[in-house]
Amino acid sequence: MTFKAGVIAVQGDVTEHAVAIRRAAERYGRDADVVEIRDAGIVPGCDVLLMPGGESTTISTLLAEEGIDAEIRAHVDAGKPVLATCAGLIVAATDANDDRVATLDLLDATVDRNAFGRQADSFEAPLSVDGLDEPFPAVFIRAPVIDEVGDDVELLAEWDDRPVAVRQGPVTATSFHPELTDDFRVHELAFFGSAERTAASGEPAEP
Ligand code: GLN
Repeated sequence: MTFKAGVIAVQGDVTEHAVAIRRAAERYGRDADVVEIRDAGIVPGCDVLLMPGGESTTISTLLAEEGIDAEIRAHVDAGKPVLATCAGLIVAATDANDDRVATLDLLDATVDRNAFGRQADSFEAPLSVDGLDEPFPAVFIRAPVIDEVGDDVELLAEWDDRPVAVRQGPVTATSFHPELTDDFRVHELAFFGSAERTAASGEPAEP
């Protein structure tokens, strides 16, 4: 059965995410049909959604203009998986500490949009993530920090004592960009509930 994955593509390039989704699906014996979402009407047919990085102000404005925002909410209400990364996390949160971002309230979290960015524009860190056997090479680019989370939010990873990967029901969100390395375990975790590989860039685990 085809696995239909929608990547929100109202802004920026989403090619890397499409590749990571296909490879993650392959690990689970699924053939992924990855569609780019720029208009309303496509989200309802998707099994999973990906909200990529970019500029959260622009993304949230375009989602509202196109009427895609309500469709994403309905997707989550139906319990279907979403992976939100970087600006996607900001848009998915309840509060972005910035009136220019129309958050979707998918994740009970308050974020600081450019917290890491003020310290260093970008960096890579080996990150211990709950559910992954070995550290994940996390690339942070003007990354948001999660300031506060509600009781229903599970912390999956912290960096510098601050949450950088969280999960609430079907929504998984990361401050970093999991699509920028040759490691698709975060996509596996978000969409299939587990990551079968044991090594970051190694071969699949023996059955
Ligand atoms: N800090 C950016 C924002 O506010 C997000 C950066 C990113 O997605 N790499 O939207």
